[in-house]
Amino acid sequence: MLDLPVRLLLIEDNPLHRRLIQQLLTADPQLQCEVEAVERLADGLARLARNDVDLVLLDLVLPDSQELETLLRVRLAAPQVPVVILTSLDDVKLAARAVESGAYDYLVKSNLKSTALSRSIRYTLSRARARGGEWDSPMFRLAQQQFLKAAQYMDLDDNIRQRLLFPQRTQVVSFPFFRDDRSQVETVFGYRVQHVLSMGPTKGGIRYHQDVDLGEVAALAMWMTWKCALMKLPFGGAKGGVRVDPTSLSKRELQRLTRRYTAEIIDIIGPDRDIPAPDMGTDEQVMAWLMDTYSQQVGHAVPAVVTGKPVVLGGSLGRKEATGRGLVYLIKASAEHLGLDLSRASAVVQGFGNVGSYTARFLAEAGVKLVGVSDVSTGLFNPNGLSVDALLAHVAEHRVLAGFPDAEAISNQELLELDCDVLALAALQNQVTVENADRLKCRLLAEGANGPTMLEADDILFERGIFVLPDILGNAGGVTVSYFEWVQGIQNLTWTLEEINARLQTILLDAFHRTLKRAGDNHIDMRTAALIEGVSRVTEAKLLRGVFP
Ligand code: NAD
Repeated sequence: MLDLPVRLLLIEDNPLHRRLIQQLLTADPQLQCEVEAVERLADGLARLARNDVDLVLLDLVLPDSQELETLLRVRLAAPQVPVVILTSLDDVKLAARAVESGAYDYLVKSNLKSTALSRSIRYTLSRARARGGEWDSPMFRLAQQQFLKAAQYMDLDDNIRQRLLFPQRTQVVSFPFFRDDRSQVETVFGYRVQHVLSMGPTKGGIRYHQDVDLGEVAALAMWMTWKCALMKLPFGGAKGGVRVDPTSLSKRELQRLTRRYTAEIIDIIGPDRDIPAPDMGTDEQVMAWLMDTYSQQVGHAVPAVVTGKPVVLGGSLGRKEATGRGLVYLIKASAEHLGLDLSRASAVVQGFGNVGSYTARFLAEAGVKLVGVSDVSTGLFNPNGLSVDALLAHVAEHRVLAGFPDAEAISNQELLELDCDVLALAALQNQVTVENADRLKCRLLAEGANGPTMLEADDILFERGIFVLPDILGNAGGVTVSYFEWVQGIQNLTWTLEEINARLQTILLDAFHRTLKRAGDNHIDMRTAALIEGVSRVTEAKLLRGVFP
């Protein structure tokens, strides 16, 4: 519920538009508001200083301020007050950039209707309120802004746009588990978020990490929706997580934590409901415990409740390496498109866990020279090439890359800026930013990690002509083979590795070529093109299913 009346500040220099908007606002009985209108930015800023405005309706082109500077000055004066942009039809691009820079929405003045205006205001206020809570995370904001950018390019139906901005179902739990000495009970927070329930069961990994929060899990769930739709898999997106550092736990503690977390979310998961999988900090063993806990509860073995489990429990051949393998299939297709000879190319891989290590291995198999690699402990550089086998042997012995002898130790920042043909990101979010996007020296940026590139950095990469394999395409190999695992599980079938890899390649390359064509046809970057592919499919399904009741 909104606090009424809503206090609106309208900053608009055109008297006709000012009057029109005021009339429209008073015409909607659902929205009780007090509107104060000013013509100049300076008057608007003075008004904001009184600290009692709920929302700003802002024209970007004013007598005393122009374009994005207008928005930036408003945001600086009142960072917590949401802004909706008022734009004319020939300035929509500018309005879209304003949304990328933090405005909540934009409205075109020439075809403004009372319902659209009032809905945008109501929705903006509820989004602003959600941001005040745990939703507010840089990753969730990034996922929303990426989606809004795609929505603007594709002129997405307003109702659908607002429906897809937040997940449909969220479970937040806090739960205890015993530490090994039994005198200590640790309480942790866990999450399971299902973004879209219209496409079939939901699907998405479970992350154990000390920084996990609701916003991060929600962002990852949203990306899963677009990824599954881009791959044409019959799933909506989901994600789960527990805010805990798994490296600080013994194996027995990890098992107790996993079993209790499973029990907490058991009502919303299941082979026909929501199917978890591994992500950062979780692995095959964690999936085995999850499957066992679920099966104990229902009284019989249910392998299809999770994917990414060990093969002996019904896991799929090829699942463990699928994300790295898929990324390298796509790197090969991109190299062909760019005219890059991979047998003479060099690569740098950030992250050396599941995705990074398999990416490095398959790149090496394709003849690519690996000149840099990193993990949480260090970056490594060797212009003559690093042996993936030697790196794997070192990590098997020491757990991390630090101390590897045949390379120069560098920082993760330096690693990103190394001269190379392919830069593969397989660690964390938020790695390529406005600060370093100008200094990247690769031709191809391949995203194995989720959310590694910030929105503003995307524009810089696009202008610089760096070809990007965006995360929802680049790392989709994992969920695609998870889909195969689920299909094999519910039908009690087993496919050969050759069959799995061939099917994986077909699905990934189909998505790659559709994305490439859309990017070329519409002169847009690969990420926006991939998002539009995914969002269009979800939109079509949502419109066909309709609204209940
Ligand atoms: P993982 O836990 O197996 O490996 C993560 C790696 O990143 C480790 O080598 C770790 O040392 C490194 N790392 C952590 N912090 C770092 C830092 N600050 N700088 C450099 N390296 C750092 O995780 P994973 O499963 O390989 O996942 C990696 C990324 O790929 C995540 O963003 C995940 O969401 C994404 N992803 C994974 C899969 C999958 O199938 N596992 C599928 C799709 C996407």
